[in-house]
Amino acid sequence: MIQFGGCSLLGSAVVDDDRSWSMQDYEGAIARWCPGCGDHAVLAAVQRLLEDEQLPPEQTVFVSGIGCSSRFPHYLKTYGFHGLHGRALPVALGVKLRRPELHVFAVMGDGDCCSIGGGHWLHTTRYNPNITAIMLDNGVYGLTKNQTSPTSPQGLKSNTQPRGAFLPGMNPISTTLGIKNASFVAQTGDWLPDHIYATLKKAYHHKGFAFVRILQRCPAYTDHLFTDAMRDPSRIELLLHPNGISVPELEGIYKNHTYHDPSDLTNGFRLAQDDGRFRLGLFYQNERLPVYEEVRAVPAKSAEQKLEILNKELDRYAV
Ligand code: SF4
Repeated sequence: MIQFGGCSLLGSAVVDDDRSWSMQDYEGAIARWCPGCGDHAVLAAVQRLLEDEQLPPEQTVFVSGIGCSSRFPHYLKTYGFHGLHGRALPVALGVKLRRPELHVFAVMGDGDCCSIGGGHWLHTTRYNPNITAIMLDNGVYGLTKNQTSPTSPQGLKSNTQPRGAFLPGMNPISTTLGIKNASFVAQTGDWLPDHIYATLKKAYHHKGFAFVRILQRCPAYTDHLFTDAMRDPSRIELLLHPNGISVPELEGIYKNHTYHDPSDLTNGFRLAQDDGRFRLGLFYQNERLPVYEEVRAVPAKSAEQKLEILNKELDRYAV
């Protein structure tokens, strides 16, 4: 990037470094999710984060797969890629590897991430690129009208398993924590806007792959999944620590607190186990782990050096 006083040359565009952005600079099309869908609250928290962090829209990329939540890029005035089912993470990783200076976010649903995208989820966690991954978990395939997803609780009736889900739902938090090189795992709920915001802010500032599971209401198909947690604060447990996620106003409402040091993976894993409680906060964070785009970075070469390498390679085939 070439600097000219208060301006810089980024690619072929002249950029004024004194610019500032308002909320309108991040607002895309009007969201077409169902009324009351939890995705609306997550979008609002993301827009608030973008404005507070003053992320330049042209240097910010939202990549999604397929599903209700994957409409996210349409509703933001940043760069976006609404891709293929389950493939948000490899596309986001490709963007990050090619343009490591960009702010890259991946938005996925539970079916998108944990089913067809399961392999990508596992390996992107292991690669640990500097990407913020937001998984909106409503426990169902909503876009395709009520089908059992990997996180559907056992017994949940759907169009594909009308007698109830045969298997227990998978646990995305403990699964992610079990992957080698996982560096940031947190959970929040869509009905707590300040907690979503604080969680996303922490995730955005994390160096490495930040995996955030958001418990998301789907009034169309799985509204009841989180009703108890919303109405009865005793069902919620906040994970608290000076290095964790802090929303002091919520601590008086949600009185179940667990003091958890997010550097303690073993305890984070224990807390992630299903026992009927909704634990919100930071389960684990480690910023000392290898970050993929850094460990695989190839030192920049001049045109002469590239030519020399090319000639040396061609000489191998000389006869
Ligand atoms: Fe939201 Fe569910 Fe409607 Fe999809 S079907 S937009 S997840 S409420």
